[in-house]
Amino acid sequence: MVASEAAPFAKTGGLADVVSALPRALARFGHAVDVVIPRYRGITTGERLGHVTVPDVDGPIDVSIDAVEHDGVRTLFVDHPGYYDRPHLYGVGNDDYADNAARFACLARAAIAWGAAAPEPYAVVHAHDWQAGLVPVLLRRGGGVGALRDAAAIFTIHNLAYQGLFDASWLGRLGLDADLVHMSALEYWGRISFLKGGIVFSRFVTTVSPQYAREIQTREFGFGFDGILRSRAHDLVGILNGIDYDHWNPARDPYLSVPYDASRLDGKDAAKRQLLELVGLPAGDDDRCRPLVGLISRMVDQKGFDLLAELADELPRLEASCVLLGTGERRYEDLWRDVAARYPDRIAVRIGFDEALAHRIEAGADLFLMPSRFEPCGLNQMYSLRYGTVPVVRATGGLADTVRDVDAATGEGTGFTFAEASAAALLAALRRALARYRDPAAWRRIQLAGMRQDFSWDASARQYAALYERAYNK
Ligand code: ADP
Repeated sequence: MVASEAAPFAKTGGLADVVSALPRALARFGHAVDVVIPRYRGITTGERLGHVTVPDVDGPIDVSIDAVEHDGVRTLFVDHPGYYDRPHLYGVGNDDYADNAARFACLARAAIAWGAAAPEPYAVVHAHDWQAGLVPVLLRRGGGVGALRDAAAIFTIHNLAYQGLFDASWLGRLGLDADLVHMSALEYWGRISFLKGGIVFSRFVTTVSPQYAREIQTREFGFGFDGILRSRAHDLVGILNGIDYDHWNPARDPYLSVPYDASRLDGKDAAKRQLLELVGLPAGDDDRCRPLVGLISRMVDQKGFDLLAELADELPRLEASCVLLGTGERRYEDLWRDVAARYPDRIAVRIGFDEALAHRIEAGADLFLMPSRFEPCGLNQMYSLRYGTVPVVRATGGLADTVRDVDAATGEGTGFTFAEASAAALLAALRRALARYRDPAAWRRIQLAGMRQDFSWDASARQYAALYERAYNK
């Protein structure tokens, strides 16, 4: 596997969790997996294995390959300090590093060069997101030799919004074939896209939920790539991410003072009281009867913060309290700080990244809100289900695949969903959930149905393994 992030070595988002958990699950089934990522600043582990020479902007360069092994998975670090020994992974703030095309071309080339020279053949090369998009391209353009001779390329899109777009002149500067600037290759509206390279040159393309795999073939969700993805519809597969139940399990969560599970839910009441006290909301007996809505998110439009903003005066007037944790766009941070100051008895807001508080919200809230405009997979709704915290979500992408809307007549379901990306639809779903909350027996059924769901990595890894078999045997 080739990627720009893998936990615990380098992480800015969900990609790092996948590139860490998936190889471990595959290893448990007996597969041998090497993961290749850059040696960024701060990665101090790893023994030197050797070197490879790869083409670069000013001629060939020598890069080192280091390795560390954990849980049956070997992680290889591509060491080239000029490219990777920097304060951040991709750039400073919203400004990408100007040489990202060269930095990630180097990653792909080093992975391919090292792989080809390996003593044992590889069956599959699995590249993730645009940063590894050149891997399938190189494999087909001369890299498929030695131990990579029979290797099939799989490419996974974790978020289509990031496309690795660069000036077409990079192709020549990087010494890549000039004919790749073509509609059927890397060209994208006069520029080149590493993401497109991954999509076009791989045997199979996957994305992180079945519903998102369908959505990205439409104009609304395709970010301009819907046509390219439709042309690969037969080889495009959605495989839901798993979640890490070692880390997100209310029965063994070190951040909770009273553990709980489906058979003893009183720990959840303790968690609610603790959370209310922690964030400074009223926590008396009457106050604890009021439903508590949790939200943990990047504060950006993708996550529905524009819809939420329209409800800034509505939310505090509901028969509920809310606790929001997140960072993101300044205007949303300011808005919610201001709302919390105006309604201190109903709304608590924490701006920042806080793992401990995230666990305490998942456990202590009664409902979890995720009104995303688009959501490739989403993790928090799956954590919420396991914690008996009923999700209220927009039915898009992985949210639609994981949350079953409660049927008004039968009461069957695991959460509350809404279809239209509007504040009114969000509010209607939330009101539906709050009405249901007043019936404790009905609510308990919804909680327990959610807690019984299984989103472990084993199921996802089996689907990837089956896809690898198909790719390899073609
Ligand atoms: P995305 O990767 O698009 O941001 P996901 O739902 O797939 O959304 O994953 C987000 C992950 O980051 C979750 O594990 C969530 O709990 C965590 N997270 C997001 N914001 C914060 C925050 N402010 N503090 C702690 N954890 C956060």
